[in-house]
Amino acid sequence: MLKRCMTCRKEYTLTPKDPQYKKFLLKPDSLYICRICGQSMQNDAQSITGLNPDMIDQHDKYVR
Ligand SMILES: [Zn+2]
Repeated sequence: MLKRCMTCRKEYTLTPKDPQYKKFLLKPDSLYICRICGQSMQNDAQSITGLNPDMIDQHDKYVR
C-alpha cells in the first residue's frame, strides 16, 4: 500500500510487516508519518517538553 508522509511528502510503500500497516487497513484515511519524520518529531517533542516517547505514545492514543 502506498502512503504519503504528511511531513516530508515522500511516498512510502507499506508492507504487511510494517507496524503501521494494520492501522491503515482499519483506518485507511489515517495520517501517515514515515519512520524518519516520526523519529525526529519524537526527538523534538522530547527536547521541548522533556517528555519521554512512551508518554507521547500514550497521549497519542488518547487523542485518537
Ligand atoms: Zn516523512
